[in-house]
Amino acid sequence: MSINYKKLGLVTTQEMFKKALKKNFAIPAYNFSNMEQLQAIIQGCIETNSPVILQVSSSAIKYINPILLRQMIFGAIKIIKKNKIKIPIALHLDHGNTFELCKSCIDNGFSSVMIDGSFLSYEKNIFLTKKVVKYAHSKNVVVEGELGALAGIENNINHTHFHNKLRDIPEKRKIKIEKNFYTQPEKVKNFISKTRVDSLAIAIGTSHGVYKFKTDKNTPSLRFDILQKIKKQLPNFPIVLHGASSIESKYVNIINQYGGDIKNSAGISENQLRKAIKNGICKINIDSDLRLTMTAIIRKTLTENPKEFDPRKYLGLCREELIKIIKYKNKKIFGSAGW
Ligand SMILES: [Zn+2]
Repeated sequence: MSINYKKLGLVTTQEMFKKALKKNFAIPAYNFSNMEQLQAIIQGCIETNSPVILQVSSSAIKYINPILLRQMIFGAIKIIKKNKIKIPIALHLDHGNTFELCKSCIDNGFSSVMIDGSFLSYEKNIFLTKKVVKYAHSKNVVVEGELGALAGIENNINHTHFHNKLRDIPEKRKIKIEKNFYTQPEKVKNFISKTRVDSLAIAIGTSHGVYKFKTDKNTPSLRFDILQKIKKQLPNFPIVLHGASSIESKYVNIINQYGGDIKNSAGISENQLRKAIKNGICKINIDSDLRLTMTAIIRKTLTENPKEFDPRKYLGLCREELIKIIKYKNKKIFGSAGW
């Protein structure tokens, strides 16, 4: 049975983006795929009085089960209301890649969807995005589009590899490859006016997953020059940063200390994120940081307590740690706390 997001107590991202742009902060978009993560996101945002975008990918929807997901969201909103706190919550599909997937999310209570046509040619991306926007807007749902290619495990491109490769090729070809990889500022206005999207994810050097950059190489800076050019074209338009986890060495070290094997991985530093927000980014996606933290806590707890067999013990500790991280990010990086 289809349902509109308003019935679930959700809102779109429109008002929160407006305020974020005006006051120069960013709205956190946290991905989740299980109950403890959702509980932590809700709790962290209640305690910091922060608006939030609850975000799921199509694989997370499958993992949770769409029927259960709807009830979880419904429950989350009820918990927030019970706390007598008024924070706007949006439910967003991350990286939708077909019209059908976006439509089914819109029909099932999502207030926002992303259609990622960045794997297509520019013209085909416009065609697909436009089709999703038309349907979404007819239901008052908002749409995030994407221009430029975001690297990461999702498409088997590694950003470090990309940078290393670029070093060895002639200048002329380099410019051409860079053009296909990063968002081209001269195209954004055209893309938005043709598709009517409500926000735009851009590629300025972030990447998905845990292995964003190598720790033993000089971490390349995000391309703030490109961001500034895009902002000049779209001064009051919501721009989104994907692949923006910090991949704290604290958690990577715990994982490795307790039998894991995550070597040589680094993320986007807090200062780069702050600079991105200063330069007009108003939505930041966080996924890997939450996954990494859970894995670190589980590894440590089970190794130190080999007799433990109650999942509530180690998942409960994960939840506590996630709440801390979310509160920290909302307060110290995104500036969304007490909005
Ligand atoms: Zn992404």
